Amino acid sequence: MTLRLSRRAARLTSSLIRDILQVTQRPGVISFAGGLPATEVMPPLNFEGLADDYRQYGPSEGEPALRGLIAQKLSGLGMSCGVDQILVTSGSQQGVDLVGKLFVDEDAKVLLEAPTYLATIQALGVYGAVFKGLRLAADGIDPDELRRAIAYRRPAFVYLIPTFQNPSGFCYTDEIRRAVAKVLDETDIPLIEDDPYRDLVYSPVDRTPICAYLERAPWVYLGSFSKLTAPGLRVGYLASSRELFPSLVRLKQASDLHTNRIGQAWLARFLGSTEFDEHLARMNRIYAERRDAMQAALMRHFEALAEWRAPAGGLFFWLRLTCECDTLALLRQALERNVAFMPGEPFFPTPAHRYPSLRLNFSHAAPENIERGIALLAEILNGSAE
Ligand code: PMP
Repeated sequence: MTLRLSRRAARLTSSLIRDILQVTQRPGVISFAGGLPATEVMPPLNFEGLADDYRQYGPSEGEPALRGLIAQKLSGLGMSCGVDQILVTSGSQQGVDLVGKLFVDEDAKVLLEAPTYLATIQALGVYGAVFKGLRLAADGIDPDELRRAIAYRRPAFVYLIPTFQNPSGFCYTDEIRRAVAKVLDETDIPLIEDDPYRDLVYSPVDRTPICAYLERAPWVYLGSFSKLTAPGLRVGYLASSRELFPSLVRLKQASDLHTNRIGQAWLARFLGSTEFDEHLARMNRIYAERRDAMQAALMRHFEALAEWRAPAGGLFFWLRLTCECDTLALLRQALERNVAFMPGEPFFPTPAHRYPSLRLNFSHAAPENIERGIALLAEILNGSAE
């Protein structure tokens, strides 16, 4: 039987990340591969006293108490954003998908960082987006390159992850944030700012959302509770400029009516409690230790093999390898020895700007395993370079 699928479905290939994650479920594997929060750091989920009140269908925009808390948080970050501009989503991944539905017709141009979040390449690719990568450095993209790319391509929007970026861990300087906002305001190109890592912060850095600096360009800001609490809840949110909001709500309705109500109610209760502040402080303390453990291990084993910056927040180290190695072959060898990581190349939206690289997650493995895993990776790399 020949299956007749939509062009959209035919474009989807399996995700390298999901394939690797399957292997990392094996006992004994040291995994630097996923973007997983540490299970032992997640708060306990106690739904007592909530479930029965939330059995009925609810509002597509989300539960009022949770929307109120989100609006307060975003206003505190300097964004002019009322509660009526907040839409609760099933993870911020749904926010990326809704943005695709909102803006992307076949062959629409999209500007994004090179490298960028793999699942955004996939989600927007489904709608036929054509990508142009903007070279990403440790302090952000180059606003002049952005201006030139906008003039040349007239993109449907620009998608950026300015704070503790996935995959690089990079964080834009305040100067670049302001300069990017200026370019977008002058050209009226919408900004999609994806910001799921902002609260995982281990060293003080500027991280005002670029959306807070915009004066006239349309914008969508994507947030998530996955890294802050538990990804299994599947609760995230978006905020948008007023002219975009009604369409985003209609698209959400067409997708899944509304986000899981019990998870939203639990979050509203948790975020409003003192337990939340304690949880956040503990989580960031543990992740900071793991970041430091990875930095120390890299200094011991990788100085001749790669260049990197210790990230001020988020979940990843990004290694630019000094050799022209085949990182997929390296991954195969590493998996044989029970260590997993993500090759960097799939994170580049096009071949432009691509270089041999690794993404290493530091939140999931315990510090002693971090040292062991990094030493093993270096050993394999040194062996293959001989
Ligand atoms: N955007 C970025 C940049 C991410 O790294 C992730 C998760 N890895 C997501 C969106 C999706 O997160 P979630 O759907 O769990 O909120």
